[in-house]
Amino acid sequence: MRLFFSLWPSEEVAARLGEIAATQAEQFGGKPSRLETLHLTLVFLGEVANETLPRLIEAARTVRASAFELDIDHVGYWSHNRLLWAGSSTPNPALAALQEKLAGALSEAGAAPFDAGRPFAPHVTLIRKLPKGRVPPAHIPVEPVRWTASGFVLVRSELSTSGSTYRPLAGFPLLPVAE
Ligand code: NAP
Repeated sequence: MRLFFSLWPSEEVAARLGEIAATQAEQFGGKPSRLETLHLTLVFLGEVANETLPRLIEAARTVRASAFELDIDHVGYWSHNRLLWAGSSTPNPALAALQEKLAGALSEAGAAPFDAGRPFAPHVTLIRKLPKGRVPPAHIPVEPVRWTASGFVLVRSELSTSGSTYRPLAGFPLLPVAE
């Protein structure tokens, strides 16, 4: 199984992100990611043996982190894979802490992230394989979209004729923030 842990947006947040993707596609071309596939990967595991799944779920359940707000306020472009993405223009300490705790718990359980040494680059993929031609700037400010992260999910990724299909396998709530 090809697996990853991810934040998944509400329908409302996904719709806002979809609008941003559509606007960028009008300008730079390419096909926006389908709304139901929009997500922010915390840890990519890659191919994992089926029997490892219970261990992964158990490890993720040990992660203690509070819910947090994430402001998606810019669009970035990576030329090496021609990928247009949305993210935050400033680091989000709560997001970084969650990612670190999860990666640590998985490593301790003997299921290290695929690129364990690579720095975490939080992003929501909006358009893959942007057509060559008009190159977007590395930073495009957009109207902020507030995303309340109240949990994360373990997802199975499968290739199909219509692109990747993501199947949620388990959900993990974050701790509610006291008012
Ligand atoms: P995916 O490769 O399974 O990726 C799922 C999620 O993990 C995405 O958010 C992806 O980020 C992230 N990710 C993938 N590799 C990573 C890495 N080495 N380090 C950190 N994060 C990583 O599914 P996908 O993103 O839909 O497909 C991406 C490309 O892989 C496509 O060109 C697809 O054809 C190819 N591919 C997919 C599969 C599959 O079963 N889904 C199998 C083989 C090849 P990004 O959004 O930045 O990619």
